[in-house]
Amino acid sequence: MADQTKSIPVNRRGVSRQRNSKRTRKAGAPLPSERFSATVRMTLQRAPHGSDELADDCIFCKIVNKELPADLVFEDDELIAFNDISPQAPVHVLVVPKAHIPTVNDLDEDHAGLVGRMVLRAQALAEARGIDEDGYRLILNCNAGGGQTVFHIHLHLLGGRQLRMLG
Ligand code: 5GP
Ligand code: ZN
Repeated sequence: MADQTKSIPVNRRGVSRQRNSKRTRKAGAPLPSERFSATVRMTLQRAPHGSDELADDCIFCKIVNKELPADLVFEDDELIAFNDISPQAPVHVLVVPKAHIPTVNDLDEDHAGLVGRMVLRAQALAEARGIDEDGYRLILNCNAGGGQTVFHIHLHLLGGRQLRMLG
């Protein structure tokens, strides 16, 4: 009988990819995060999945690196948060990891703590802005079909007015 353990695909951290058979793709086929736009492909070429390197043309990497100005509301070693340049609500903050991660599709188990801390930071900022009791919305857009326009993951914190149902 063939030794099946030899054929289990693993990522660079040695984690099996076989759990989710939908991830299987033919050689040369686009990654899920490459399907929608050339912008995504350019970003991935310059910063491999999960890379800590800054991507050359990424607006949010430039904000992290202080090459572009932003209205910062929080910063630590791992995260930065700033007011959205085009706010869709009285409170519209973006919580952004300093590491360049292009889309939610590029997250894996190693990012679970990071994503949790993004949510907890948004929770703390909502309280600091006095919108926690009325309520607020947290959004992570993924790829063009999900409304993502900046390909460096970010959590939107929206509040300060009655938000409409999603649709
Ligand atoms: P996405 O559509 O990718 O989920 O969200 C990107 C968000 O980034 C948008 O709400 C957009 O207004 C915001 N944004 C884009 N460029 C800049 C910028 O240079 N500075 C700031 N503060 N926000 C930006
Ligand atoms: Zn970036």
